[in-house]
Amino acid sequence: MLAKSRTINLGILAVLLLIVFAIYGYIKHNQHAALSHELVDTIQNVNLTLLTLDKLQQHILHNRERVSTSGKFNNVQNYQFYSRYHEQYKVLHADLITKALPQVLSDTQRNRLMSYHDTFIMQQEKIISSFEFTDLFQDKIDPTLNLHGLISIEFIEFLHQLKRYITENAYTFTQTQSTHLLASELLIQWLFIGLGSLLLCALFITLYFFYLNSCLLQHIKGMYSQSTRPILTINKHGMITQFNQQFEQLTAKPTLRKHQSHIKDIIGNHWVDLAILLDPFISTGYDLKDIIRSLAQPSEPTLCNSISYKLSMNTAQGSKPMAIDITVIQSYSKFRAMLIFKDQSEQEAMQAQINTDNFTKIANKSNILHRLSEEIERAKRHQLLLSIIFIDIDEFKQINDKHGHQFGDKVIKWVAARIKKRVRDTDFLGRYGGDEFLIVCPDCNDTQALFIAQDIRSLLNNPKLHVKASVGVAQMQANDTQQTLLERADKAMYQAKNQGKNKVVVYKQRSQL
Ligand code: GH3
Ligand code: MG
Repeated sequence: MLAKSRTINLGILAVLLLIVFAIYGYIKHNQHAALSHELVDTIQNVNLTLLTLDKLQQHILHNRERVSTSGKFNNVQNYQFYSRYHEQYKVLHADLITKALPQVLSDTQRNRLMSYHDTFIMQQEKIISSFEFTDLFQDKIDPTLNLHGLISIEFIEFLHQLKRYITENAYTFTQTQSTHLLASELLIQWLFIGLGSLLLCALFITLYFFYLNSCLLQHIKGMYSQSTRPILTINKHGMITQFNQQFEQLTAKPTLRKHQSHIKDIIGNHWVDLAILLDPFISTGYDLKDIIRSLAQPSEPTLCNSISYKLSMNTAQGSKPMAIDITVIQSYSKFRAMLIFKDQSEQEAMQAQINTDNFTKIANKSNILHRLSEEIERAKRHQLLLSIIFIDIDEFKQINDKHGHQFGDKVIKWVAARIKKRVRDTDFLGRYGGDEFLIVCPDCNDTQALFIAQDIRSLLNNPKLHVKASVGVAQMQANDTQQTLLERADKAMYQAKNQGKNKVVVYKQRSQL
């Protein structure tokens, strides 16, 4: 991957939010259902209690007349009546006890109910057993019957009080549950609104991304149709997503495939450098702030034409100097970089003429200084070593004076050729001034540069031609500029001159001395 995205993946965030919403909604929905059931149960209990109380009251009331006229019936008739009355009463009372919830009846009311019940049952059982024995005197039964009549009136009155109490307090029994139920309903409503809004936002953003992507594709299409130069497009991972016929002709690679080939297959390790240049455009791609800003002010994909990169590339006609103009096309969901290639062979040839010292055929001063500044940048970017070697021929005026200016010219050419032989392919040699030469040695510390410098000095001072030279070596430090580095190499060269010439001196920082 080209860049580590520091930004949020909106898709994952939306899905996570939806899952959280759904789980929370499910829990709340279950709680709501439980609350509804509870409320319905309470209402049912209140109604059933009222109904049963009423039935019980009606039952006692209905049979009261028959109770008060028991004397008119014989024992068998009374026995049968009381047994039936008693059984019906027990059923109704059992109903009441099971249905009257604690919240409907208070403990005192319940105790009073039970006490009436016990007395009632006891009396009825006594009466029934009395009528079982036919030889019992009527006057023994009468007091019990009278008492039962009185208790019945009291009981009816009590049941009436209970009914009134429940009716008056019916609202209070369900008040708390109703409040909870209403709050839960409101919460579920808001959850639905929230979920709906979230889905709408997600839909809106997705559509907006589609719109941006279609703009991006339009741009790419437009640029492809306008250009006659070789073009290829890459995504943020460096995968080739598109290329034109001119590019196919340039590389002549039959294996080149859209979405399968990587830019590395075309430009090799230059991709690492290019990736660093493209990185700032990629890492801002999914920034939430940018998306919000773009939603507020919708705009087309961002274009950036400012990147230009030069390299030597293998083409169908061999290795060629190429310039790549890079157009970064940035929409908020997709990144594309369009690479437009330009053959630089002619320009390079012209440039080479401008950059070369006609006399020695090595790089001239401006060229070597340009190389130096490029190498300083590269070394800083990749934290690499860099050293330079500054050479000045000793007593050159004397050579001119002794052997003539033309001989002096030959010496300068010979010196340039000798140095060129010794420097590595990766080093850059240039004529800095009259009898001065500068070598830029990338990936090289001052000890390695010292070896090269000593070799050069001894190569010049050979039996054929005794050319002596003073050489200064300096290694780039982290805070160096081109000027400070050159100054240190120059100082080292002057130290060599001051120490008797024909020497190599490595510039050492005070702390290193
Ligand atoms: P030092 O050891 O201090 O370097 O003494 P030097 O005589 O070499 O003096 P310096 O480097 O200051 O001067 C270089 C001389 O080289 C000055 C100039 O006359 C001569 N020179 C510069 N360019 C050319 C050239 O292209 N051809 C010839 N023949 N001489 C040149
Ligand atoms: Mg000199």
